[in-house]
Amino acid sequence: RKLRVAVLFGGRSAEHEISLLSARNVVEALDRDRFDPVLVGIDKAGRWLLQEEALLLGASRDPRLARLNQSAPDVALLAHPGTAGEAALTVGGASQAIDVVFPVLHGPMGEDGAVQGLLELAGVPYVGSGVLGSAVGMDKDVMKRLLAQDELPLVPYETVRRLAWERDPSEVLARCERLVLPLFVKPANLGSSVGVTKVKTYEALADAISLAFAYDSKIVIEQGVEGVREIECAVLGDEEPIVSIPGEIVVDHPDGFYSYAAKYIDERGATTRVPADLNEAETRAVQLLALRTFRVLEASGLARIDLFLSKKTGEVYVNEINTLPGFTSISMYPKLWEASGVPPRELVSRLIDLALARAERRR
Ligand code: ADP
Ligand code: MG
Ligand code: MG
Repeated sequence: RKLRVAVLFGGRSAEHEISLLSARNVVEALDRDRFDPVLVGIDKAGRWLLQEEALLLGASRDPRLARLNQSAPDVALLAHPGTAGEAALTVGGASQAIDVVFPVLHGPMGEDGAVQGLLELAGVPYVGSGVLGSAVGMDKDVMKRLLAQDELPLVPYETVRRLAWERDPSEVLARCERLVLPLFVKPANLGSSVGVTKVKTYEALADAISLAFAYDSKIVIEQGVEGVREIECAVLGDEEPIVSIPGEIVVDHPDGFYSYAAKYIDERGATTRVPADLNEAETRAVQLLALRTFRVLEASGLARIDLFLSKKTGEVYVNEINTLPGFTSISMYPKLWEASGVPPRELVSRLIDLALARAERRR
């Protein structure tokens, strides 16, 4: 019998649209000899839609969506302990048996451990990091603290909570004076560069901080890397993860960094280079850092590790982990594996097999 793979996509985060594009590619890459897809969409209001209704998420101007949004289906994941792989997903009264879940959600309420916790409770195997790895990877502040403890190279930064900013902005601004311009101000829990500002003068810092606080109650303020090159590695596996060849994002955008617009809106805002133009020693250093980051942050299944390489000093820094990286046709994660000899069909099969093997080990 074929395994029923619930592809979970959409979601309430600012990265909803990216998730739709990623999910389409995951479904297309599913080996239909082994798997049957079950589409589960989450709309922007957080309502779950099953199969045909989920398809409507892809057509956001579809007038039928308005009607759908008025009905709020309740969602339940029912596990049947003891009978392996016999979970059922019930959405608005309709029930659908599933064997494994592939969450293709980006950002909070998807990539941050919340959905993973729901799946744990239901006892359903799922692709990617668990509750802890997902949560740690989403929170740039906690992520940095763990990486720092293991002495992985990080840029200097400050974490600021909303309450501290509201009580004493001058204290916060004074704390940031040790950081050399330009600075990058970011919400602690987000992705796709949403809410991120490159700050070139200390006068512009307060506005950037206010903007980041519109998205999160905790933010990070980082020192910018001089002459930055953005290098990314894909990691695949669980206890013995493997790392892809490194790729590079070459940004050419008026924003001056890999902003949301450079990522998704302006066609020529950024190009990818696979493999990255690195010598052997640099390649090995970057790959080793990516694997260490994956382990230190308790990731599992898949992750894309993003690093900064300074053109000026040759120094490499870990920027972040993305535990559910983009899977669109132009996304780095599938591209890096393709270039490393793992085409999308095989990649998706391996990810699902890892999810099943992990669930089996826990039984
Ligand atoms: P997100 O999780 O939203 O992708 P990032 O931390 O990756 O957030 O920041 C988004 C982009 O901002 C990066 O890809 C890079 O272009 C730029 N950036 C962020 N931090 C720095 C930094 N310390 N130095 C140079 N560029 C940075
Ligand atoms: Mg990110
Ligand atoms: Mg990033």
